[in-house]
Amino acid sequence: MSVDHGIHTIDTAFQRDHFDAAYLIVQDGRGAFVDCGTSHSLPNLLACVQRAGLQPADVDWLIVTHVHLDHAGGAGALMQHLPNARLVVHPRGAQHMIDPTRLIAGATAVYGEAEIARSYGQIVPVPAERVVVADDGHCVLLAGRELLCIDTPGHARHHFCVWDQASRSWFTGDTFGLSYRELDGDAGAFIIPTSSPVQFEPEALHASIDRLMARNPQAMYLTHYGRVEGTARLAGDLHEQIDAMVAIARQCADLPERHRVLVEALSALYVARARKHDRTLADAEVLRALDMDIELNAQGLACWLDRDKR
Ligand SMILES: [Zn+2]
Repeated sequence: MSVDHGIHTIDTAFQRDHFDAAYLIVQDGRGAFVDCGTSHSLPNLLACVQRAGLQPADVDWLIVTHVHLDHAGGAGALMQHLPNARLVVHPRGAQHMIDPTRLIAGATAVYGEAEIARSYGQIVPVPAERVVVADDGHCVLLAGRELLCIDTPGHARHHFCVWDQASRSWFTGDTFGLSYRELDGDAGAFIIPTSSPVQFEPEALHASIDRLMARNPQAMYLTHYGRVEGTARLAGDLHEQIDAMVAIARQCADLPERHRVLVEALSALYVARARKHDRTLADAEVLRALDMDIELNAQGLACWLDRDKR
């Protein structure tokens, strides 16, 4: 993959190829990771450090956009290999990196114990003295290059996005949705929002997307997966689908077999949109790529419905 503005894309190998990315930003011989996959991702992350001509000691920062385990599950394990790095995390996520007990329990409730062991491996605590809490507007300096952490709730309340002025792009974690390269077509990237459990908040997500767009970004670096351009069109696609997902959820609210109906309705929504986006995309291919995300989006919409009722 090409390296633009010193930004290296790393496949963390979580779940499948080209599903879960981490990034290494290199500036004047210093490095910063943005997100890091799981502890199984460690070899790929360290190989990238070497490929970029750096030593592990040259990495100053590990910035995690939020503490969901596909983004930050490997943070503790990676930090053990980066003697000079500090971990940058949202105020609501910091405690979970220092003591991951509740994080593991929460993820186990969503994914189940066997899946946690298989997919995430060991989740290692990060020593408190290596943790930097980034409030809204916090600036991380990488050899003088400014990386700005901006609070972006909606997918999760412990989520920030990182603005890189040098490349005029955002590292969006899960705030700017999911877009897989195998679904790219002549019309560009196909994108969907993520409402995965347990803190999906549609109004906050709309506002966060607007906040990202206010800087007129050149590109977005998504964790799932990679760099996308044409950000204004993609933002519009996300806004429309958040509203459509909320409408679907409300219609399903009181149905028996709510989960099954949600999965079917979300599948139909994304397939219809993919067809409209690019007629060469086969429905089966779309569903195969989005399989896991449809399941999680349905679960997260159910959480939102139940929370909304309380
Ligand atoms: Zn997430």
